[in-house]
Amino acid sequence: MSTIYDLDLNDLELLLNEWNEPAYRAKQIWQGLYQQLYSSPEQFSNLPNSLRTKLEEEFKFIPFSVRTYLDSSDKSTRKTLFELEDGNLIESVLMRYGDPADEHDSHSMGKPTKQRRTLCISTQAGCAMGCVFCATGQLGFKRNLSSGEIVAQVMYYAQMLKERDEVVSNVVFMGMGEPFHNYDNVMAAIDRLNDADGYKFGARRLTISTVGLVPQIRRFAEEQRQVNLAISLHATDDEERLAIMPVNKRYKIDDVIEACKYYIEKTHRRVTFEWALINGVNDTPEVAHKLAARLKGMLCHVNAIPLNPTQGYNGEATDRQRAQIFKETLEQAGIPCTIRMRRGIDINAGCGQLAGAESK
Ligand code: SAH
Ligand code: SF4
Repeated sequence: MSTIYDLDLNDLELLLNEWNEPAYRAKQIWQGLYQQLYSSPEQFSNLPNSLRTKLEEEFKFIPFSVRTYLDSSDKSTRKTLFELEDGNLIESVLMRYGDPADEHDSHSMGKPTKQRRTLCISTQAGCAMGCVFCATGQLGFKRNLSSGEIVAQVMYYAQMLKERDEVVSNVVFMGMGEPFHNYDNVMAAIDRLNDADGYKFGARRLTISTVGLVPQIRRFAEEQRQVNLAISLHATDDEERLAIMPVNKRYKIDDVIEACKYYIEKTHRRVTFEWALINGVNDTPEVAHKLAARLKGMLCHVNAIPLNPTQGYNGEATDRQRAQIFKETLEQAGIPCTIRMRRGIDINAGCGQLAGAESK
């Protein structure tokens, strides 16, 4: 059964027409879903009983069940493992920022911290890209999520936060999967979240992170969306990148950087480069200098995060001191850099880690 979140307003209007319902019902359902944040048909008190029953019979509202959830010991982070209808597992993580003791903000992109609720969501079950350090990559590819399954992760948390009078403030596509490998469904999900008569979630509060699929970066540039773009680079040398990221066989670093320059030229938006700091592998001052040389003159920013250790890869995290030197070296060479602190390390909050543990 598909989820109601798979439909956009137009689909809903067509459907209700087929069901011989008045046209205004579509808008009522849409607003119930995305403004009132109803989570089940019985909450739609403005709809006739017969229509509520029909919706119940035809659609799943939330198209997954909660298999487990875990809160980090400081309560700042909640990770939920969802089981989809077909048994596949995906994860989403909610991170709270801006609470008084919170000095580091892993998704701040260098801006001052306010109270924020950032949601990290999945776009695929598993991932085909096979980055060796990544728990999701170690699982392999299961399937693409539908646009509704992507939207439903946001709505699930939005409904939960609403009970505490809180709202989702940012959404990052940094959970399981490669968003640009499921391009159309991800963009449909973004459009649905954006809708001015619905959830009205601003594009600027969304961030897509990609392993660096060049044609899709160019397509994305041409669409000139206001969505933020992050590129997982992790190495400055093709050979070194290939050793940890098989995608580099297809798309070389130069091509990725060229595509990013095209994106900046088209959108005038700053690109973020993601950098997982792996002890002794890509965290030396020498690497930082090479990276700075590659990125010189670009409207960009480096977001470095010490590696989150996973079962299938024996690399180690860079310590705080080395990370600091890496950052300073980059900044002295004119490239802004933030060190993201690892959050929720005690709850396996790195993408794919919980699903990996469950499927063993
Ligand atoms: N597939 C996309 C988005 C999901 S991964 C991408 O690769 O960009 C989100 C981010 O987490 C990426 O920057 C990825 O390189 C990083 N990542 C994956 N595994 C990690 C780990 N074990 N430690 C630190 N960062 C990791
Ligand atoms: Fe896929 Fe991203 Fe993990 Fe690479 S880092 S395997 S692209 S989810």
